[in-house]
Amino acid sequence: MKDCVFCKIVARDIPADIVYEDDDSISFLDIRPVNPGHALVIPKRHFENLYELPSDLAGRLFQVAQRIAPAVRDVTGSDGINIGMDNGSAAGQEVFHAHIHVMPRRLDDGYALWHGKAATPDELAPISEKLREALRDKPTERGAG
Ligand code: AMP
Repeated sequence: MKDCVFCKIVARDIPADIVYEDDDSISFLDIRPVNPGHALVIPKRHFENLYELPSDLAGRLFQVAQRIAPAVRDVTGSDGINIGMDNGSAAGQEVFHAHIHVMPRRLDDGYALWHGKAATPDELAPISEKLREALRDKPTERGAG
């Protein structure tokens, strides 16, 4: 897509530190890493976010992330890896070409781990009921493709 920075990386119109590539995905280092080795896994085709991704492609991207993560861990000697995906501005998405973050973490890196507030069973139950209903007969929004 024109004006998409990640499409430009796929097309080699702008440089990136590419670490992996296959038929439908590419992985390169984030230029603003949370820690050294922070990599992104993206589809070569332009999809805005998780909701737009064909489900089989989403699966393959996660498989690539699964392959990248231990390599990042071993090369950087990190203590842990966060896998993340921001979908929508409210979730922190800045580049609207779907991507999975593979973020090495160190015990002493100073980043906070975020945990939610404890919820009561009365708060959880109605949401889980609505979600079960929403998920019935609806395995994914996009299906395979
Ligand atoms: P998000 O906020 O989830 O949309 O993440 C976008 C990520 O892309 C950020 O962590 C940026 O640092 C990273 N980024 C933006 N432009 C580039 C680029 N040209 N090469 C590598 N990473 C980039």
